[in-house]
Amino acid sequence: MGRIIAIANQKGGVGKTTTSVNLSACLAYLGKKVLLVDIDPQGNASSGVGVNKGDVSQCIYDVLIDDVSVLDTIQETKVENLDIVPATISLAGAEIELVSTISREVRLKKALQEVESRYEYIIIDCPPSLGLLTINSLTASDAIIIPVQCEFYALEGLSQLLSTIRLVQKHLNKNLEIDGVLLTMFDARTNLGIQVIEEVKKYFQEKVYKTIIPRNVRLSEAPSHGEPIIIYDPKSRGAEVYLELAKEVIRNG
Ligand code: ADP
Ligand code: MG
Repeated sequence: MGRIIAIANQKGGVGKTTTSVNLSACLAYLGKKVLLVDIDPQGNASSGVGVNKGDVSQCIYDVLIDDVSVLDTIQETKVENLDIVPATISLAGAEIELVSTISREVRLKKALQEVESRYEYIIIDCPPSLGLLTINSLTASDAIIIPVQCEFYALEGLSQLLSTIRLVQKHLNKNLEIDGVLLTMFDARTNLGIQVIEEVKKYFQEKVYKTIIPRNVRLSEAPSHGEPIIIYDPKSRGAEVYLELAKEVIRNG
């Protein structure tokens, strides 16, 4: 059975999509069979692995709302061992449409059951909210990775995320665990970054990944080429650290 991991934080711009795309690609590079599921209406993870959204006829929206099989939405990517379920802007309506749907919180979980045995890892790129799309992701997942940007307001909003996780554990998915908190966009030139690391470690202790993702310009360039960093610039620091993270995630189980 594949291990399902949601990459979530309701804050935008903290590195969820960058982590989803590059962790998935690095796991695949290490020989794991990986499915990346894009559940953010912005569809940045989809374009980040080279999906041309104009060519997508069925996406995660159709799976969640119209009971289309996930199998009919899966596309291969140019990374060996990495497939994707894309999202398009049609997903923007799903948050509202799901409200009146039967078993609205477990639709993704049910949908993924059909493909779980084919993959070793299923990585879900969540939108920047704690709405039903994120709830569906947490309900479907074995674990969550929380990217936290190394900036002044790093911890702001995390208590809200943690209480959502507790609610999901209590009512929808008792197996959900925090795999780790990932510090992102670290800038070694500022004291602030170091302070944030200390603060986050004090709060989350052994749950913080040893791998810290630095600011790396190659990581921000890669998406416009539709390539994960391991393809766009395999020798870059960005590729190195996401490979380290992938190894750490594998070690965690
Ligand atoms: P989210 O999905 O949480 O909104 P993104 O992964 O899209 O966040 O990242 C926000 C922006 O920051 C993007 O433009 C992305 O390219 C850039 N970015 C993310 N991580 C890094 C990094 N380690 N170094 C440089 N730029 C980064
Ligand atoms: Mg994103």
